[in-house]
Amino acid sequence: MTPPIPAPTIASNLAAVRARIPQGVTLIAVSKTHEVNAIREAIAAGQRVFGENRVQEAATKFPALKAETPALELHLIGPLQSNKARDAIALFDAIHTLDRESLAQTLAVEIKRAGRSPKLFVQVNTGEEPQKSGLAPKETLAFITRCRDEFGLAITGLMCLPPADEEPSPHFALLLKLARTAGLPHLSMGMSNDWQAAIALGATHVRIGSAIFGERI
Ligand SMILES: *Cc1c(COP(=O)(O)O)cnc(C)c1O
Repeated sequence: MTPPIPAPTIASNLAAVRARIPQGVTLIAVSKTHEVNAIREAIAAGQRVFGENRVQEAATKFPALKAETPALELHLIGPLQSNKARDAIALFDAIHTLDRESLAQTLAVEIKRAGRSPKLFVQVNTGEEPQKSGLAPKETLAFITRCRDEFGLAITGLMCLPPADEEPSPHFALLLKLARTAGLPHLSMGMSNDWQAAIALGATHVRIGSAIFGERI
């Protein structure tokens, strides 16, 4: 008889994902909806970079975790309301969802006030979906220029979330092309179901949740 296959754990899921991610690509473990103890399991397995999509949820979970493990790096991957910008800058090391001029303006003010600058990614709505945040591809380059010249913001890269019902690769390819044209080094793209395609097209940051922590409640 073959021995039973052990049930997957957060540590074994992480090891399986890590084994397939090349050097130089940052794995963001997306812990939204998961409890602090699940995040502690990932930390015990060596994970240091985490993603959350809501400022308030992250603020209830991460200050304690950061106190335990100061090297943690926290990325905001969900929409940011301007009235949460101050909290976001205090808590997050990177913001992937800069998607409008009013937010750029608020972030510039709050970054100066806090003396703390999270890395900033501009979100691009590559599928031009009306319900989704992000700059239209044709407006992205001008937006990046305004962020720099008008607001003095350093933009580190671009982020996208391809339409759920489409082949993601053309969207990743478009994001790569825009980043190259803008001279930006970082690309935040790829989730549990499509991260390998994203890496093949130049992703430097993959955002992986359910493949590590299991299905969300
Ligand atoms: C939830 C989320 C992810 C992770 O999704 P999985 O399919 O669970 O890997 C990645 N990016 C964003 C923006 C998300 O909201």
